[in-house]
Amino acid sequence: MAPISKETDFLVIGGGSGGLGAARAASARYGTRTMVIEGKRLGGTCVNVGCVPKKVTFNAAAIAETLHQAQAYGFSVQETAPFDWTTFKNKRDAYITRLNGIYERNLTNDKVEYVRGWAKLLSRNSVEVTLDDGTKTVVNAKKILIAVGGNPKVPPQIPGAELGINSDGFFDIDTLPKKVALIGAGYIAVEFAGMFNALGVETHLLIRHDTVLRHFDPMIQEGVTGEYERLGVKLHKRSTTTKVEKDEQTGKLTVHYTQGETEGLVSDLDHLIWAVGRTPATAGLGLEEAGVKVDKKGHIVADDYQNTNVESVYALGDVTGRVELTPVAIAAGRKLAARLYGGEQFSTAKLDYADIPSVVFAHPEVGSIGLTEPEAIERYGRDNVTIYKTNFTAMYYAMMDPAEKGPTAYKLICAGPEEKVVGLHIMGLGSGEMLQGFGVAVKMGATKADFDSCVAIHPTSAEELVTLR
Ligand code: FAD
Ligand code: NDP
Repeated sequence: MAPISKETDFLVIGGGSGGLGAARAASARYGTRTMVIEGKRLGGTCVNVGCVPKKVTFNAAAIAETLHQAQAYGFSVQETAPFDWTTFKNKRDAYITRLNGIYERNLTNDKVEYVRGWAKLLSRNSVEVTLDDGTKTVVNAKKILIAVGGNPKVPPQIPGAELGINSDGFFDIDTLPKKVALIGAGYIAVEFAGMFNALGVETHLLIRHDTVLRHFDPMIQEGVTGEYERLGVKLHKRSTTTKVEKDEQTGKLTVHYTQGETEGLVSDLDHLIWAVGRTPATAGLGLEEAGVKVDKKGHIVADDYQNTNVESVYALGDVTGRVELTPVAIAAGRKLAARLYGGEQFSTAKLDYADIPSVVFAHPEVGSIGLTEPEAIERYGRDNVTIYKTNFTAMYYAMMDPAEKGPTAYKLICAGPEEKVVGLHIMGLGSGEMLQGFGVAVKMGATKADFDSCVAIHPTSAEELVTLR
């Protein structure tokens, strides 16, 4: 391996979504001498323990659902055919390893210096890098970007909590479990619970309130919660976990919880998965040494231009705690590179954090952009908000028994007399792919009349969004 440069212009800490987005743009587009320091595998959370292996697993779960539904269309499908999780996992791991290689080649092609090691800020212009073999090198840089992401939150301090795993551990599971419990009510808990359930695993979901996805529009919260119950996910609502125990002989876990005055438990679990949010990965990063400010939750404080309080030190992505999504980190990284190195025409470049679409790969998929109904009412006043919504059964289910039919629900939230669409929430088959195009319309400021002026595509579910009354 070539020795590490001791000087660089743009030093990026973290080879995940945001760090790579910024580094590649800085070097390949603007010719900046750039170095990326990554302690684990290239690609960060998304590629290694996030979006990518998650979506591949979601696809497996979707195939299981389709195999079941195929019978309604006249196929003789052997549903007893076992799902070979181990083979699936090995192939998924191999795919991720291929991606790691592609990411490394991309850096080489883009002339970014890639250093495998852990970085610690020494000052606003210097970083200490600890390589795998323990050797330390100091690198001086004109500008430093912190894009270190986050880690799964440590579960609450309850006896036995450490017996559980987190989302990173989910991707290490190498045999199909029989029974699992998940604790949490956000993206990860909902996505993992849906996948396990579709793959035939007895799935328990412990939530603190009455619905999942409480940051989403009420239609989505209630729709997904109800559908999970219908699909057979065992929901333990209003429950607080009190203890986790392990049977040393069988290795199985039991989780204890309270629901108000009553106590409950779920035993015989192969895995208990904590999915209670993420924390910024700033431990040992030297933020204090460099004087970089963090907020109450430990996220680095960055302004709209990704500037921290320290000149020449920037931060973006999950470590800033602002919309923790891969495309957000990438877009913020590219904008920053453009602003710093793209010349006069990009001198005010920044990511617009408004109206960012996001999808929960739930069963069914959920898509959301803009304000929820309560948020819109709070911002514009009840009298200035018009809601259009519909519930229906997608044509895909026409061939199925009533008990097999999944829900579809769409909502448009419009503001003012011109009925500008300020929120769009969809739940149903294909919502993940549908949202991107509608996101463009919302971002452009489309009104209800603009939606209606687009002729429907028939027969689809999406057509309902341009024919709402
Ligand atoms: P990361 O991608 O986490 O990259 C940070 C990198 O910095 C890591 O590789 C880390 O090893 C490295 N690092 C940390 N400290 C140091 C140091 N001191 N020195 C050197 N390197 C360091 N988002 C979506 O948009 N769609 C999804 O479907 C989706 N699914 C997800 C599923 C799961 C299970 C999880 C956990 C997340 C998911 N996300 C999804 C969120 C997405 O993965 C993150 O928002 C995104 O990865 C954030 O990018 P980042 O660059 O800020 O951080
Ligand atoms: P989230 O912030 O989405 O959800 C965590 C939820 O867990 C909280 O909202 C809370 O819900 C519940 N919770 C918190 N503490 C406890 C506790 N002690 N006991 C029980 N429940 C608790 O975090 P995730 O970990 O699910 O995901 C992290 C982030 O990663 C997401 O916010 C998202 O940005 C990103 N992500 C994106 C995905 C996508 O784009 N498809 C997929 C996966 C992750 P409540 O208050 O209702 O109890």
